[in-house]
Amino acid sequence: MSTSDANHCLDCGACCAFFRVSFYWAEAEARGIPADLTEPINPRFSCMAGTNQRAPRCHALAGEVGQRVGCTIYEHRPAPCREVQPGDDQCNKARAGYGLPAIEAWCWQSPIPAGLTDPLPHGADIHTPPPPAD
Ligand code: SF4
Ligand code: SF4
Repeated sequence: MSTSDANHCLDCGACCAFFRVSFYWAEAEARGIPADLTEPINPRFSCMAGTNQRAPRCHALAGEVGQRVGCTIYEHRPAPCREVQPGDDQCNKARAGYGLPAIEAWCWQSPIPAGLTDPLPHGADIHTPPPPAD
């Protein structure tokens, strides 16, 4: 995770407090997610604690959405957290839910489309880590 002030994710956190963050139950142990930060959904699926409710907010999220946030289990976060990309549909849906402006997906792509400048550091967000080695 970058500490850059230009990083949208560190100033956002909307997707961590908008969706139910669910995953195959065994992923929690495989990734080392603390047991008290997960909740069972059914025999096959679990979710991040706090996200299976009417006003979701992951218990691993620190800070205030739309202000300054961080994932307290960044290295262990489950697949859904790794899949959402700044500027994709889920990202901007969550941001809209908090009244935050949409992010242009090209901000996080490489190379930058011709005629546009790069306003953000690539790969410097909480949801786009390097690919796992396995
Ligand atoms: S992926 Fe999008 S919604 Fe999620 S924290 Fe980053 S900028 Fe916010
Ligand atoms: S585990 Fe981290 S990245 Fe995933 S929803 Fe919770 S706070 Fe967000």
